[in-house]
Amino acid sequence: MIQRERIADNVYSFQSDIYAQVTAGAVIGPNWAVIIDTLAMPEETLAIRDFIEQELNVPVRYVIDTHSHADHSWGNIFFPGATIIAHALCRELLDTKGRISLEEVRKQNLAFRNVKVVLPQITFEEGQLNLRVGKKTLSMFPLPGHSKDNVAVLVEEDRVLFAGDAAMPLPYIVDGDIDDLVASLKKIGKMGLENIIQGHGDIILRGEIDNFIKDNLAYLSNIRKVVRKASRRKYPQDILDDSTVESCGKSRVLIGGLAAELHRRNLRALYQQMYGELPAASDYDDDEYEYDDEEYEEE
Ligand SMILES: [Zn+2]
Repeated sequence: MIQRERIADNVYSFQSDIYAQVTAGAVIGPNWAVIIDTLAMPEETLAIRDFIEQELNVPVRYVIDTHSHADHSWGNIFFPGATIIAHALCRELLDTKGRISLEEVRKQNLAFRNVKVVLPQITFEEGQLNLRVGKKTLSMFPLPGHSKDNVAVLVEEDRVLFAGDAAMPLPYIVDGDIDDLVASLKKIGKMGLENIIQGHGDIILRGEIDNFIKDNLAYLSNIRKVVRKASRRKYPQDILDDSTVESCGKSRVLIGGLAAELHRRNLRALYQQMYGELPAASDYDDDEYEYDDEEYEEE
């Protein structure tokens, strides 16, 4: 159900087999542990908790939410003894959009019947917040672009970065900002890291980091070109429809096959971010183009 990897001494990552290859992390101290994100399904959150509290035999004292999207923060409820840490905006989004979409999901999916939104008790907005866990220093800092509230967690001694969704196999900017994501990716590239734990997908090793940054920046530059080209036409959506993930330099099998759909949404959202309106289509069909950001906000 979840894949577990030991990244360094007392540092683990987890990846979902069920939903969009979403990841979580844990840093284990002598007396207590910290987890980073909570995965998509309650059974997965509980599997992480059991591993830490039953097998490693330490309680989870802190939960860091990298951002407010469901597949990163809805598991807070399963750590009643823990203090939740996040960006101030993550708290605000969970309290508004998060509550509304959880209410909807609970109606449709029994697995979420015991899930409630739990708001972060410690928040920050800028600079850096440090947490000592045994001999390790976790430093948390904003890394926006995928979303405005995304934060990353650096395990300083190991140079391991839990990037949240600032690092994904296919960048996704529907709730964020392309310029912020470009800046965040460039920042990651200069950090001298051993590993990047992406918010979705596989661990990126030291030797792969340069290419990862380069490929993701190229994708963002390519979608910007597509959107600019589309803006010069009467029906921009028609041009966006002709653009495939592959033509922008990425494979459609990424993120459990969701890449083509995420790409389509990226183009539409970027058009709106750049031109302040949704792109018109020649055969406009309300159903086909209905823009429902709730449905995919979990990524
Ligand atoms: Zn996300």
